[in-house]
Amino acid sequence: MLLRIRQQRSKFRYRYRMQPESKLPQVGTTIFTVMSALAERHGAINLSQGFPDFEPPGRLVERVTHHMAAGRNQYPPMMGIEPLRERIAEKARHLYGVPVDPDTEVTISSGATEALLCGVHALVRPGDEVIVFDPAYDSYEPAILLAGGSVVHLPLQAGQFRIDFEQLSARISQRTRLVVINSPHNPTGSLLYQEDLNQLADLLRAYPQCYVLSDEVYEHICFDPDGHASVIATEGLKQRSLAVFSFGKTYHATGWKVGYCIAPPALTTEFRRVHQFNTFTTATPLQWALADYMASDPQHYLKLPEFYRHKRDLFRRLLEDSGFELLPCEGTYFQLADYSALSNLDDVAFSRWLTEVHKVAAIPISVFCERPPEARWVRFCFAKQEATLEEAADRLCRI
Ligand code: PMP
Ligand code: GLN
Repeated sequence: MLLRIRQQRSKFRYRYRMQPESKLPQVGTTIFTVMSALAERHGAINLSQGFPDFEPPGRLVERVTHHMAAGRNQYPPMMGIEPLRERIAEKARHLYGVPVDPDTEVTISSGATEALLCGVHALVRPGDEVIVFDPAYDSYEPAILLAGGSVVHLPLQAGQFRIDFEQLSARISQRTRLVVINSPHNPTGSLLYQEDLNQLADLLRAYPQCYVLSDEVYEHICFDPDGHASVIATEGLKQRSLAVFSFGKTYHATGWKVGYCIAPPALTTEFRRVHQFNTFTTATPLQWALADYMASDPQHYLKLPEFYRHKRDLFRRLLEDSGFELLPCEGTYFQLADYSALSNLDDVAFSRWLTEVHKVAAIPISVFCERPPEARWVRFCFAKQEATLEEAADRLCRI
């Protein structure tokens, strides 16, 4: 009875107060915005949302102002400027040994987030199932729901955070339109190795209707000696995959929101059909600056693994005497930490407490999962100056 009254009341609200019935009723403000605001409010060191506290390369910034002053301020082509697409194709050839056609296989997007949304909307229809692996980056599920798809959450293997292929093969079906993968993996720092990608390619052979959306935004923050394994270089996957990248991570410029998608021509055509009516295109001077910088300083991304390995190792060393137990980190600029020796609070409450009382902000992991994990984990971002990491570790060691 009470439920019926409530339902009627909420229908009334929708109909007569012009309050729309939410398409994403279960979605609140993202954890990244929530935790960064909390950190700000409490004067805490912000190791929650993933962004560097240092600047992009000076020459890259100089190139942006150069191109603005030079009059590159009007719409670029919908798919992105040619020189930037060419630099991306060259990089793919050089790093992954694969030919990529800059005209038909590369599209510049407004951050990886836009590319992920366009990729989902290009492929997923109402009723389609999409498989994501938990913990899953928070933008996947809303994109799938807005496209009318239903989300199938499969947990990554406990401990290693790799795909459980037995579970995947039991759950995948002719209704599966898309599998979303992410390596290096946010928030766990795990990797999919070439053998994982090969196994996925083998499994998908029986599902010709199924595509792959591969989130590779941390491709250059990979600490494996063999380097990053990409779907674009994996036979059996590259033909059915949209691979998504972000300049924000690579050039310490998360606020610029420039990313790109590499996909075979047929998939790129569908991707661009959505992209052109979503953002249409991406800030012109940023694109020219990135094209210049990629040509003049390819060493930047080649040195990135070393740059971040040093920060990872420093942060881990500084926390050796803390009550946190650190999980392995093979990629990304995130460190997972088990706090069960320190507190019985759940991870959301613990992250708040850490921010408010100990003045270090972290991200709880349960928000990336359909079912909260039993373990007590939080994520710290180590894309910070050494002094920031030292001060944060000092505070964390005093708990
Ligand atoms: N995917 C993952 C796994 C990420 O961590 C992020 C961002 N931080 C994105 C996508 C979005 O990237 P962008 O900021 O370029 O939209
Ligand atoms: N990807 C970043 C992180 O994981 C945050 C991006 C965002 O705030 N939307 O922290």
